[in-house]
Amino acid sequence: MKNSSRRSFLKTATLIAGVAAVPVTFLSQEAFAAKVAKASMQYQDTPKGDAHCSKCVQFIPGKSATAQGTCKVVEGNVSPNGWCLAFTPKA
Ligand code: SF4
Repeated sequence: MKNSSRRSFLKTATLIAGVAAVPVTFLSQEAFAAKVAKASMQYQDTPKGDAHCSKCVQFIPGKSATAQGTCKVVEGNVSPNGWCLAFTPKA
C-alpha cells in the first residue's frame, strides 16, 4: 500500500510539473517573438533625413539592397528606405 501511494504521488507530481512548465515556455517564446505595430512606431516608407532602415541595427535585409526586409522591432515587411521611432544607427 505504501509503495502504491508513493508511486501515485510521484506520478501526480510529475504530471503537475510537466503541465506547469508548458505555459511558461510558451509565454517566453511569445514574449520574444512579439513585434510592435507599424502605426505605434510611426513607421513610414520614406527616410527621415539621413536615417533609414538599412542604416538601423534592427533591420534584417531582404534578398537585395532594394528589396523589402524585416525588422526585429516592427511587424511586417519594411523598406530599406523606411524609418520609425525605434531607429538606432549602426555603429
Ligand atoms: S527599428 Fe524602425 S528604423 Fe529600424 S529597421 Fe525597424 S522599422 Fe526601420
